[in-house]
Amino acid sequence: MPVPKRRTSKARKRKRRAHHALVPIRTVVCKKCGHPTLPHAVCSNCGTYRGRKILTVEEE
Ligand SMILES: [Zn+2]
Repeated sequence: MPVPKRRTSKARKRKRRAHHALVPIRTVVCKKCGHPTLPHAVCSNCGTYRGRKILTVEEE
């Protein structure tokens, strides 16, 4: 079984993990109801896309 010859240094480990940060998800505000929505997707709150009705959202 292969085993690393050298222990990974703190600097090398930290440099590798410099790219691991999470980026916040992008949202756009719905034109109709003002609800934050994923871009290029039907609004989950009112069921419209670019002002047109696509889905009927049932409320509980
Ligand atoms: Zn909406």
